Amino acid sequence: MGSFHLTKMALRNLVSKPATRLYPLEPPVYTSMTKGHVVNDIDTCILCSICERKCPATALTVDKPNRTWTINPFSCVQCSTCVRICPTKSLRMEPDYTASAVSMQSLTMTKPSEEPSEEPQS
Ligand code: SF4
Ligand code: SF4
Repeated sequence: MGSFHLTKMALRNLVSKPATRLYPLEPPVYTSMTKGHVVNDIDTCILCSICERKCPATALTVDKPNRTWTINPFSCVQCSTCVRICPTKSLRMEPDYTASAVSMQSLTMTKPSEEPSEEPQS
């Protein structure tokens, strides 16, 4: 009886599609439930530090004087809290996972300085 089931399973597997993908030749398909990783549109970020204060994993650092926003992707737990509370909606979750790396490095983005206002004409 056992060998009958085994033969049936083997024959079914011979004619069915493979359960695995040929990664990286076949790109992964992410579902709508995938959390992925945090991305900041630094142009719309106002460096208010709300995301840094609310992040439960202390994965974010905002340095207003130096105009930088930093995320430690190895501390981030993909909870999306920062995305929900960002007042300018500059944060979003991208569905793909953080790229693999050989060292635990943070990612720092620098907000370009504002253009100096034009001198009033006399
Ligand atoms: S909450 Fe949004 S606008 Fe404020 S520092 Fe964070 S990313 Fe920038
Ligand atoms: S997704 Fe959660 S853990 Fe990751 S940076 Fe945002 S608030 Fe922090």
